[in-house]
Amino acid sequence: MGITVGVVKGNGIGPEITEATLHVLEATGLSFDWVPVAIGDEGVKKYGHPLPQESVKLLREVKRAIKAPLLVDKFKGRLYCEHEDGSVGVYPSLNNAIRRELGLYVCPRPIKGIPGISGNYEKLDVHIMREITEDVYSGIEHMIGDYAAECTKLTTRLAAIRVAEYAFQYARQNGRKRVSCVHKANAVSMADGLFLSCFREVAAKNPDIPSDDFMVDASAYFMAKCPEKFDVIVAANQYGDILSDLAAGLVGSLGLAPGANVGPDGLIIAEASHGAAPDIAGKGIANPIALILSGALLLREMGYRKEAGQVEDATMRVLSWKKAMTPDLGGNASTMDVARAIAHEMRQAER
Ligand code: ATP
Repeated sequence: MGITVGVVKGNGIGPEITEATLHVLEATGLSFDWVPVAIGDEGVKKYGHPLPQESVKLLREVKRAIKAPLLVDKFKGRLYCEHEDGSVGVYPSLNNAIRRELGLYVCPRPIKGIPGISGNYEKLDVHIMREITEDVYSGIEHMIGDYAAECTKLTTRLAAIRVAEYAFQYARQNGRKRVSCVHKANAVSMADGLFLSCFREVAAKNPDIPSDDFMVDASAYFMAKCPEKFDVIVAANQYGDILSDLAAGLVGSLGLAPGANVGPDGLIIAEASHGAAPDIAGKGIANPIALILSGALLLREMGYRKEAGQVEDATMRVLSWKKAMTPDLGGNASTMDVARAIAHEMRQAER
């Protein structure tokens, strides 16, 4: 029997980069049982809902999954998920619904410069721990007539403490040297003030790892000007979302930024930082590396450290030697060319 991993193949560029990722993960020599999970269009087709409870249940059972991006309809209102006990979850988007239905609470996004590719940002090496259950993405907003709209920035002690604890534990387990909290507590004194004070509380219990904090605007400036200031960052949902796209852009492409959604009881869903990129979907030119590296992250979490290292090392070699690069990195390779080049490198290294 193989290793069971759920697969949400998504839409937009999702199916293309999923095929590439599974190809590379299979080149580790591990044997996988890929379990398709119907979400989005597939969920509607199979069960009549973009996030069917059957699929939520399946993800809880398999615990580990690879999820490609799902198109997010802008200005489309709310998603309602009815539960067996009669309660209803109301969410602002499908991605948000998946995270909250499963209790996934932190999204680690390791972003690293690549020699020969990232120019001035080759030394950028920052791991962003994005809180993913609340903040302005909680969906608590309403119109006031047609002349104003009000949106709540939710911060709870539970979520702020939980993400900070995860960041310090992550830093310790991954040999990282510093944890920084990103906030705007001078302007949003209560919501961000609480986020920061929870962070400081957790930092005080982890004196072996140095910590500090920065305003979010200054953080964007430092990220662009002197990214070596940062090691591990803890941020509320929106700041983490924006800073991780910024870091990805600095190292060369959103297609290089992996990530995962982590929840209780060992639940982990590997997911690239980028979206479904409808502008390039179906052309076979999407960069699959962010999802491939997310797959490596999943392997490491599952205890397959050697295989995770194989994938990461081969990916770095293919990129540094410019062996196969998609158009976002200035090359003309296809999505599958990149996957085949990485798989080939892995086999060569094994000899
Ligand atoms: P979301 O809100 O779901 O994060 P988005 O609207 O912010 O999505 P993306 O889908 O991430 O946007 O795309 C932003 C830009 O980056 C687009 O021009 C897209 O083509 C490009 N892009 C994103 N991912 C990739 C990739 N894997 N390879 C190449 N280009 C990409």
